[in-house]
Amino acid sequence: MIQVKDLVKVYQAGDSEVRALDNVSFTLPDKGMIFIVGKSGSGKSTLLNMLGALDDVTSGSIMIGDKDIAQMTPNELDSYRNQYLSVIYQNYNLFEKETVLDNILISSAISGKEISKESITELLEKLDVANIENKKVVNLSGGQKQRVAIARAIVKEPRLLLADEPTGNLDHRTAKMIFDILKKVSEKTLVVIISHDNDSALEYADEIIRISDGHIDSHDLRNRYYRKNTDNLIMLDETQNIDKEVISKINTALKGTDYRLGYKDKLYVKKEEDNYTEEHIELKENKFNFKLSLKSAWEFVKNNVSVFVMNFVISSLLIVLLVLSMCFASLDTRPAMKTVSKKFNMKTMSLIKGYSYTNDVNDVNSSHFVFLNDDDFEMFKDIKYRKIYSIDMYIPNSSNHDMALGRVTKDNAFGAFYAQTGLGVVDSDIAYLKFVFGENFELAAGSLDGLESSTKLIITDYFADSILYIDKATKKSLQSKDPNDPYQKLFNRVFNGRYEIGAIIKTNYKAQYSYLLDSIKKKSKDPNNAGAIANEVSSSQILKSFYDDVLARLAYGYTLNPNFYDDYINFKDFAMLNNCYFLDEHFEDISKTDDGADLRKDDTLNPGEIKMNKAVYESYFKITLDATQSNFEEKTIYLKHQGYEESVNDEGTMIDELRVVGISTTSNSELLVSKETVEKLNREVIGVFAIMIYDSQDIVDAYNLGYNNYYYTDSPTFNKVFMLFKIISIFSNIFMAIEGLLLVVLFVIVVFSGVKVIKKEEYRIGVYKSLGYGNKQISLSFVWYMILVVVSIFIVSTLMSLALSFIANAIMKNAFAFYMKTAIYNYIDLIKFRFIHVLYFNAFVFAFTAMSIFIPIISIRKIKPNNIIRRAD
Ligand code: ADP
Ligand code: MG
Repeated sequence: MIQVKDLVKVYQAGDSEVRALDNVSFTLPDKGMIFIVGKSGSGKSTLLNMLGALDDVTSGSIMIGDKDIAQMTPNELDSYRNQYLSVIYQNYNLFEKETVLDNILISSAISGKEISKESITELLEKLDVANIENKKVVNLSGGQKQRVAIARAIVKEPRLLLADEPTGNLDHRTAKMIFDILKKVSEKTLVVIISHDNDSALEYADEIIRISDGHIDSHDLRNRYYRKNTDNLIMLDETQNIDKEVISKINTALKGTDYRLGYKDKLYVKKEEDNYTEEHIELKENKFNFKLSLKSAWEFVKNNVSVFVMNFVISSLLIVLLVLSMCFASLDTRPAMKTVSKKFNMKTMSLIKGYSYTNDVNDVNSSHFVFLNDDDFEMFKDIKYRKIYSIDMYIPNSSNHDMALGRVTKDNAFGAFYAQTGLGVVDSDIAYLKFVFGENFELAAGSLDGLESSTKLIITDYFADSILYIDKATKKSLQSKDPNDPYQKLFNRVFNGRYEIGAIIKTNYKAQYSYLLDSIKKKSKDPNNAGAIANEVSSSQILKSFYDDVLARLAYGYTLNPNFYDDYINFKDFAMLNNCYFLDEHFEDISKTDDGADLRKDDTLNPGEIKMNKAVYESYFKITLDATQSNFEEKTIYLKHQGYEESVNDEGTMIDELRVVGISTTSNSELLVSKETVEKLNREVIGVFAIMIYDSQDIVDAYNLGYNNYYYTDSPTFNKVFMLFKIISIFSNIFMAIEGLLLVVLFVIVVFSGVKVIKKEEYRIGVYKSLGYGNKQISLSFVWYMILVVVSIFIVSTLMSLALSFIANAIMKNAFAFYMKTAIYNYIDLIKFRFIHVLYFNAFVFAFTAMSIFIPIISIRKIKPNNIIRRAD
């Protein structure tokens, strides 16, 4: 039995409350046909929803046997809906595009009951709709549909059958047929029917509940009266007005006989008051139907074919675009260039032809670049390069260069006669010295003896004079008193805590550049004309030659000891380094010890316990050590003319001083060439900056490091490859720019279609829920749907990407072959399909789909089974 007690249902409609049911109480028997009648809006459907647990109760209780619907857990509710109950709706709520059989089976799919096809056939025959099992519901008439709905409802043999206006959409004849069927069902089952149709209620009802404004007006318990046995009943008409006493007397007289006396319209005598019996209701948990979840996912696809197809076609296209953009963007030109340079044996390359020069040294700044032609380059190759240690030889107080010789400015480039000394140490031998200073060079002081194994340097007289000059200016007394032996005291001096002087080479520079020295003197004697003199000198060829000479040979120290720097770097003399400046000059940013402490120039670093930052060590010492003389001949160099701009920093150290250069062993890549070289070039060679090319990778680097403006080659092959990459990089930039946009579009498409499907499937979800399907069961369908979407996008996008990158590659290669007429493309994958890119963007699709599906899936919980009933209203 069902007992409803003090049932209240309040709907919140905006700010106002609708009391759809107000303190309703009644009991219902285990079987029979109950009609609920009332005007529209009186609360009939609400009451049905409550009984069917299709919506939640505001207060009160609905006892189904010993279970209160209001107290059931969600799982119990699902079981109750699926196993105890069936609902028939005015608009059938069948899945129109599915077959009758599928529609019927769906109600029992999770009930755990085995329903055979035969029994369904039989059932349909009984309902007078034989042979429609395989028809689609959409093709049936209303009456047929309602009978299918009845079949779906009763096939699982529920104990309670609820029907909300089941005949509302049917003609009278069909309606009667439906009522007949339901009447039959009600012999074994409690059937509760909502109907407008009072006549049918009177005809079929065992009980009628009349309801208005949420109240029960009357509960006509028709069948709960015994119908008196009329056989032996002497019926009286109430209008006959026989008084009760008479009847009572007659009845007494009739006692013991079969005859009784009664009023005609009081044939029914109420049974003794029903006692509500608390039958124990067993609700098994619904079966979880895996296959069904797949099937409904497939139904989602079928119901949303256009959205589904649009989703995966557009998404796949977008992914392909994104993948192509990644192909371009991730195309690493280095391995490609390397492959090409290897295939075409481009170990060495000649330099670009082209010239740009200026007559005026003052005009030259860093924006002027002079390119050498092939001959120049060949000549460079012939030169016996020396290794230059371009760490600076710090000349104490060199800021006094200015004081001694006038300031060096751009406007007045003339004047810094002794300014540029101590530029580095050249790894030399006697042959080199002869090459640079002449076969018969002479010494001004000291001796070359034993210098092969000493750490003493050979410097030029120019270098020596500059030290003395500076010294004079600072009043340090390195000046010798003996004019015949001016360099005496220099031999006692250790520069930078590491350089000692062993010999001084005579260069005759004073005679050679006497014009400059004289001009300086004239300048100081005749300050009024100083500007004019300076101008004259500035534009002179000799000043230029002088600078070249200084930077080519005069300003350096030379060592004959091949191990000079090895010794130095072996840290033998490391204790001496504590005073030297190069650490903080060159490695300011990384001059830290391994402990992280700043390495200051005053730190004492003792041999054996040196804690030097590894980066400092590797970037400096290792490079120096690795470069050996014998490597140089094999190198191809790129030369770039560096602008000439001299400046002096606060400590008096020359900076930006990249004048004539040769091969360097340091990361600075400054090199020196001889004066002859510069002269032979006979051009406005202001400076040469070099990058060493060890292998093809370096060639590639030269292209990739942003030197492209200045580094050219006359190798047609390489230039073509280079041009190709330029073209690709344009594509890549375009793609990168729209990549963000594409992703947004992808997001919109995927989320839009996901949400759209969920929205569209709300009805299906409602039907499922009314059939007792749990959230898990329904959600899994959507997960499957999501997987279907993602997998199809994945497959299509992979295939499309593969095909498109293949096609794009073919097009580009052919264009390349046609246009450039080389076979380079055979060695380069211009557009390299990478599966990881497809995966990457599919991950986005996955995330977007998950968002678009899972967020609504959460709302599945909130979708009430009565969703569909409301739709019907
Ligand atoms: P009937 O089925 O008898 O026509 P209902 O049970 O559908 O009536 O509705 C009873 C009352 O509750 C009506 O006033 C209706 O407007 C209101 N009502 C029904 N469902 C809702 C709802 N979901 N939100 C707000 N009001 C509702
Ligand atoms: Mg209604």
